[in-house]
Amino acid sequence: MLYQSTRGKSPQVSFQQILLGGLAPDGGLYLPVRYPTVSPAQLDDWRKLSYADLAYEILRLYSDDIPAGDLRALTHKTYTAAVYCNGRQTDLASDITPLHFLGEEQGTSLSLLSLSNGPTLAFKDMAMQLLGNLFEYALKKSGQELNILGATSGDTGSAAEYAMRGKAGIQVFMLSPQGKMSAFQAAQMYSLPDANIYNLAVTGVFDDCQDIVKAVSNDLEFKARYHIGTVNSINWGRVVAQIVYYFQAYLLATKASSERVSFAVPSGNFGNICAGHIARMMGLPIERLVLATNENNVLDEFFRTGIYRARKAAQTLHTSSPSMDISKASNFERFIFDLLGQDGQRTAALFKQVDETGSFDLSADPAFQTLQQFGFYSGSSSHQNRLDTIRQIDTKYGVMIDPHTADGVQVARHYLQPGIAMIVLETALPIKFAETIEAALGRPAECPPAFQSIKTLPQRVQTMRPDVNQVKAFITSHLQ
Ligand SMILES: *Cc1c(COP(=O)(O)O)cnc(C)c1O
Repeated sequence: MLYQSTRGKSPQVSFQQILLGGLAPDGGLYLPVRYPTVSPAQLDDWRKLSYADLAYEILRLYSDDIPAGDLRALTHKTYTAAVYCNGRQTDLASDITPLHFLGEEQGTSLSLLSLSNGPTLAFKDMAMQLLGNLFEYALKKSGQELNILGATSGDTGSAAEYAMRGKAGIQVFMLSPQGKMSAFQAAQMYSLPDANIYNLAVTGVFDDCQDIVKAVSNDLEFKARYHIGTVNSINWGRVVAQIVYYFQAYLLATKASSERVSFAVPSGNFGNICAGHIARMMGLPIERLVLATNENNVLDEFFRTGIYRARKAAQTLHTSSPSMDISKASNFERFIFDLLGQDGQRTAALFKQVDETGSFDLSADPAFQTLQQFGFYSGSSSHQNRLDTIRQIDTKYGVMIDPHTADGVQVARHYLQPGIAMIVLETALPIKFAETIEAALGRPAECPPAFQSIKTLPQRVQTMRPDVNQVKAFITSHLQ
């Protein structure tokens, strides 16, 4: 399988060639030159597979430059009950991503797909754990080293650190805004004892951290000399790993491949739902893909109006579903490329326009009229909606959900159809956002036993001013 850039001006390359990189040289994002399709018979055949084997079957369609035996070993090493059990000793992880039935609403079933039982209790572990193993594999084969520089507002950083800890040939330098994460998130990251993990707490906000990463990435000489890489959400490896759980959810929710299901996905950067879009393009019988945003409704606005209006950092609201507080959806270009019939030239023009003017308008474009063919629907939630939904799901079904998942449930309820199962992707466990759970329910969030003493562990973190040179100096003085 070869990969093309959404801006149409980069050479086509293989899976392993894009694995460690970020953007294509022309500034676009990589996508396969065609989507492999899965027939109904094939789909039914996959019903008997374990998660690790299903991941192998799907990944091999996209990465035929990795020998089959190696790939199978990688998916089996990644998707184990021991990694995805969140410390519990139950059969919870038997499917890695169990389907949690809530109840019948408006003539159909409403379920949650449990994606947050990995080491950092958010769905990002699903892809990041595989990426850690893929990186280690690729670096070992090429004899290279990689220094990952990242910025996080909470979930990405910890998922990356837990995936890369102890991996040969990899060091992680993670910037986080000092005092701006939840106490649980900070404890998760800062308590890691591994020698290849460095936490840098920047005395500023998330955007300061992001700006430093961009500045270092733009210093091509520094980047090449010190083998600097990233693991941000545009990485194709993360998107492809996420396709697997849409298939798994479908197989758990249905009995035959003649049935259709819908998914609702809490969204900020369009990463998670991008994988759903690709699963649908591969032939998975998905009726609706329901995109849920919080008050930062850039994506909801596009799907309702055809106008994409990126926000400035200063216009990005701090909400109680903070992992979706984005001003620009970094994976959205992948969908626009498909919507425009894979026209790289037009995609490039639109996203250059975003850089220059902040927006584009497809409302009168024939392509926008084809949106329904892609199954997309959208909606947004407010803080009050979030609290109400958390309270309601707790009262009605006795299930505690996190604020992001609550946004998904709230929007999903507007798009239920009789007889078509609705699956809401659970993106984190409530304990990660304990403050909002307390506000909604008046009692503390449930904490898995393995995490009960996390806040008392010793922490390793270096405080730093928002200064590129200071960060560069730290990296060069801590190389292996
Ligand atoms: C990252 C994240 C999201 C947003 O996912 P995207 O695919 O980046 O849009 C939603 N909820 C939680 C808890 C997250 O960590």
